[in-house]
Amino acid sequence: MSLPRLLFLSLGGTITMVPSAGGGIAPKLGAAELVASVPDLAEVAQIEARSLFRLPSPSLTYVHLVEVAKAIEEGFAQGFDGAVVIQGTDTIEESAFLLDVLVGGDKPVVITGAMRGADAPGADGPANLLAAARVAASPLSRGLGTLAVLNYDIHAARFVQKSHTALPSAFLSPLVGSIGTVIEGTPQFYVRVARTPTLSTKGGPPVPVALMKAAMGDDGRVYGALPGLGYAGVVIEGMGAGHVPADVAPILGELAAKVPVVLASRSMTGPVFTKTYGYPGAEIDLINRGLTPAGYLSGLKARLLLGLVLREGKDAGRVKSAFAAYQ
Ligand code: ASP
Repeated sequence: MSLPRLLFLSLGGTITMVPSAGGGIAPKLGAAELVASVPDLAEVAQIEARSLFRLPSPSLTYVHLVEVAKAIEEGFAQGFDGAVVIQGTDTIEESAFLLDVLVGGDKPVVITGAMRGADAPGADGPANLLAAARVAASPLSRGLGTLAVLNYDIHAARFVQKSHTALPSAFLSPLVGSIGTVIEGTPQFYVRVARTPTLSTKGGPPVPVALMKAAMGDDGRVYGALPGLGYAGVVIEGMGAGHVPADVAPILGELAAKVPVVLASRSMTGPVFTKTYGYPGAEIDLINRGLTPAGYLSGLKARLLLGLVLREGKDAGRVKSAFAAYQ
């Protein structure tokens, strides 16, 4: 029986980093070197390795990720059975979500990285690459959208968050837990997520959306300036279930009359409310002023979804229906 065909795309990140002449570690290794460093991969899949970028992940942009999504779509059209994207962990939760929304179909897309550099004692990159390949090669992974695989945990893109700066166990899905684990080399899924609607790569990268966080005593003076700075939309991470100081509510209402404003939460996890609190600045007030609740999406993920929806221009109905899929 022939092995599944996997497309490995590397973008950079700690997993590719080794000590640099200037001090510290920096991206160096390409996809082929990473694959060659894990001989067991040859028993999992036939792999084509491509190095799209060699960047630390804070320097990845939407444009890079749309390029990645297109490369995956082309690869799938050419017969690859799955894709593994290798990148820095700092922005995996954003890249995973973008790929989840942009790449349609049933074939698995798995994103991975490493918390320790390639030369570090106990480097986690090789184990993560092998686990990611096993998940991408498994028929059980079909229909689940983009998955993040690190530390043997399998996370759905819509839930995964980087939750620690250093540990190999940094990736969590605080709302639901991981949806599966790679055990004895085999992916096991404990729950299955239904796919959420996808949006085409043909519309290009997301348009600029500002991500703001409500804070005690803040008077909201910055919000009025945002449309003039060229932001097509705004995501505000409110306090708790989606709340802001009373005086900030009318300012956000005025902003929502100009550009779409989405209400997320600055809490680590949990959906924003829609019908519980009745005081000025609470979720009922903000929704009545035109804000759209982000559901359970984090501010980071809500910002990406809003930026993709607004590629086709401002349309309140489209914004509401895009976020309805995550309530
Ligand atoms: N700063 C690195 C990056 O995101 C960290 C990592 O790869 O884990 O590229």
